[in-house]
Amino acid sequence: MSDEPQFPDLPDIGEILGRKDRFIQKKTTVLKCGECKAKYSREFKAGDFTFKKLDAEECEKCNRSKTLVVEEIYSEWFDPKKSK
Ligand SMILES: [Zn+2]
Repeated sequence: MSDEPQFPDLPDIGEILGRKDRFIQKKTTVLKCGECKAKYSREFKAGDFTFKKLDAEECEKCNRSKTLVVEEIYSEWFDPKKSK
């Protein structure tokens, strides 16, 4: 005869905790050009931080270099398993 305790049906905690890990974080960097004042966003690159001057990149709008500054960085979370 078994002495194992009988657990009530609870939601699977492992499932809930595991949900956090399957979300994918997508970071976006918003750039502002000091020359033409254009503001646009591109994929976040390592090393980006707010107010950083991007000397190595050209403005997407006026193609001038050394004018871009990181205006804002934001991140979004995606659930890759979510179907709809
Ligand atoms: Zn520009």
